[in-house]
Amino acid sequence: MTSACGVCEIHRNSGFADLVAWESERWILRHHASPAPMAGWFLLDTKRHVPSAADFHADEEGEFAVVLGAAMRAIRSAVDVPRVYVIMYGEGAQHLHAHLIPRDPSQVGTAAWEVADWYRAVETGKRTPAQASDIARAVKRVSDGMRSTLRL
Ligand SMILES: [Zn+2]
Repeated sequence: MTSACGVCEIHRNSGFADLVAWESERWILRHHASPAPMAGWFLLDTKRHVPSAADFHADEEGEFAVVLGAAMRAIRSAVDVPRVYVIMYGEGAQHLHAHLIPRDPSQVGTAAWEVADWYRAVETGKRTPAQASDIARAVKRVSDGMRSTLRL
């Protein structure tokens, strides 16, 4: 843990427990905090303070694809979308957190890089964030999906 790291800080905050869909010894799958750009926008974090996938230990590297694939399938099913985007910048916090973003083709303004504009519009209050009830439902469904398909 690093005190200046935003992701480590989130992990220390017990208030985020309602957003956690699944966790294991090395991973946390959590919904985006409020204001959330859309219901079903999750983040997959390493528990250890790791700057990027280039810095994984062997056990993290071995599990990453398994956990990522399971999380993407769980999100795809939970919010009924055909695909899930994955973005890892490591810029706002240099602690691995993969943004897992549901892609709903019927939602205009969310295709590919447009989703970054959507994100900023919610962040700056120009677009309505996801509703708490929709987030809670997504967390529950992703949690169920992870528990039924993944064993680590
Ligand atoms: Zn950290």
